[in-house]
Amino acid sequence: MTEEKMRFEAEVSRLLDIVVHSLYSNKDIFLRELISNASDACDKLRYEAIANPDLLEGDSEFKVRLLTDNVRHVLTIIDNGIGMNRDDLVANLGTIANSGTAKFVEALSKSDNAKNVDLIGQFGVGFYSAFMVADKVEVVTKKAGDSQAWKWASDGKGEYTIAEADMEGHGTQITLHLNDDSKDFTEEFRLRHIVKTYSDHIGIPVILMKGDGQDETLNEASALWTRPKSDITDEQYQEFYKHNSHAFDDPWKTIHYQAEGAIEYTGLLYIPTMRPFDLYDPARKGHLKLYVRKVFITEGADELLPPWLRFVSGVVDSQDLPLNISREMLQHNPVLTKIKNGLTKKLLSELESSATKDADGFAKFWEAFGSVVKEGLYEDYTNRDRILKLARFRSTGVDGWTSLADYVVRMKEGQKAIYYISGEDVAALKRSPQLEGFAAKGVEVLLFTDPVDEFWLQSIPSFDEKDFKSVTRGGADLNEVKAEDKAEADADDKKDDAAKDASLDILIAAIKIALGEGVKDVRESDRLTSSACCLIADETGMDLRMERLMKQHNRVDDISPRILEINPKHSLIKKLSDLAATDAKAAILHDAAFLLLDQARILEGEALPDPVAFARRLDLVMEKGLGA
Ligand code: ADP
Ligand code: MG
Repeated sequence: MTEEKMRFEAEVSRLLDIVVHSLYSNKDIFLRELISNASDACDKLRYEAIANPDLLEGDSEFKVRLLTDNVRHVLTIIDNGIGMNRDDLVANLGTIANSGTAKFVEALSKSDNAKNVDLIGQFGVGFYSAFMVADKVEVVTKKAGDSQAWKWASDGKGEYTIAEADMEGHGTQITLHLNDDSKDFTEEFRLRHIVKTYSDHIGIPVILMKGDGQDETLNEASALWTRPKSDITDEQYQEFYKHNSHAFDDPWKTIHYQAEGAIEYTGLLYIPTMRPFDLYDPARKGHLKLYVRKVFITEGADELLPPWLRFVSGVVDSQDLPLNISREMLQHNPVLTKIKNGLTKKLLSELESSATKDADGFAKFWEAFGSVVKEGLYEDYTNRDRILKLARFRSTGVDGWTSLADYVVRMKEGQKAIYYISGEDVAALKRSPQLEGFAAKGVEVLLFTDPVDEFWLQSIPSFDEKDFKSVTRGGADLNEVKAEDKAEADADDKKDDAAKDASLDILIAAIKIALGEGVKDVRESDRLTSSACCLIADETGMDLRMERLMKQHNRVDDISPRILEINPKHSLIKKLSDLAATDAKAAILHDAAFLLLDQARILEGEALPDPVAFARRLDLVMEKGLGA
């Protein structure tokens, strides 16, 4: 029988090196990982056997057995699951398939992170944790339906061997030659304790084999979600979450319920606290598992939840689907559609009740998942009103998050629209000149910082019959809002000074002539109080910053020409108006027009189309100011 020597993929070698030297970590978890793999292997065979019962070879009682030898210090974990053929062994126990794992290995190699080896299972490399406790690992396995068994062996130092082997039946036996620090893993009380702690929820029995024939089942051996809520501890729910969802955080919400009536299913749903790192990865598969009467069917089924709830993980176990349903048949299955609607409703009402009863908790949830939930505003027509009520936003009027309903309550007398400004971060948005007039009148402006905001705004024009209106688009209509204090009111009254208006009109005309096609229009602003000018988008156009964002993502070809608004109360604009009134053709007006436009672009965070010309003009104007 020939033995083949093979090298581990470089990443596996690095990982193993860390695992072997992880002195401080919780070594117990190796057993959790190996039992979890054994249980997965049984799940897989159970599923395959629905279509092909011969695969079971009459052995349909799935189980994991633990065999100890405390003389030779050997622990063996045996399952009667699907097993592996030669190719499976090479692919599964020699390489790392998951892309997220590279980051994990990276993080682990920073020395003080070595204790995080515990997280190994979450990254889909749990098998290698065997090398925490063993200096030699042997895997003997036969794939169900095959006649040839294989033996894989390694000391975890860069290489492994594969050779043909003999084995009765199908499944996998993993033999651990325990290292000097780990010899007590053959002790019964130790194994009993570890299985109870980490593997109690596994749906198949984990059996400790004893010499006297009195084999002992160490776990509850009923799937966690099938047990009554009152029998399940918080720790068990959490352990199940971490294992099942490959998660590192504690769940924010654990929702365990039985749906009865037309469609019957059990749901054990988790809403995480932390955002999974790959939530925006299009190739991401979620961690919601579908079972049919305790038989595992599939994981990450898009059919079970709308994409805007893709962060929810857990288990759904249906009574109504046929056992022989294939993964391909899941699409457009009417029972599944009903389950999906049921899960969505359940989650929505949980979120609604948190939003009222636990505002702080809900705010944290929104911080992590709000941008995903908002996708539902344009993708999930049926639920969009409920989602809109859940939605929270940053605002100039509050420090934390606000709902739209609360914004509406705070609206000023005469204010007709819900104002917003879009951009990439709250701090920068708050400094926008376009907000000045709104701040002066005490009108609150919502700060939209998610690209998704512009999408839902296109399909939801209003809330509570008040239109959403960008403060960087069209007229500000601030005159209709009642002034906050007397000074403002006085300023409003003095506005119609005819002579001043006439000179302002001349200035505006002069600027238009100078800038030509460079701007769409030049107009007097009622939204500025301290800045001289700002850019505005056309009433029918896209919000300024959103258009820029879209350009960055190549969603639009070109930025459309802007409207330049100038502030008639600003002393510079006043002086320029006076000059325009006496000499509309003054050369300095031409330069001033460009400087104003460039200044507005800089305030907007936009690149100047011609920085050299800007510098030349600025030099000129400064020289003049110095009396040259
Ligand atoms: P994960 O379980 O997250 O996929 P592991 O490192 O624990 O990552 O296991 C790697 C792969 O090795 C598994 O996905 C599975 O294909 C295979 N494997 C491990 N243990 C067994 C087993 N007992 N029976 C069959 N296949 C197994
Ligand atoms: Mg595993």
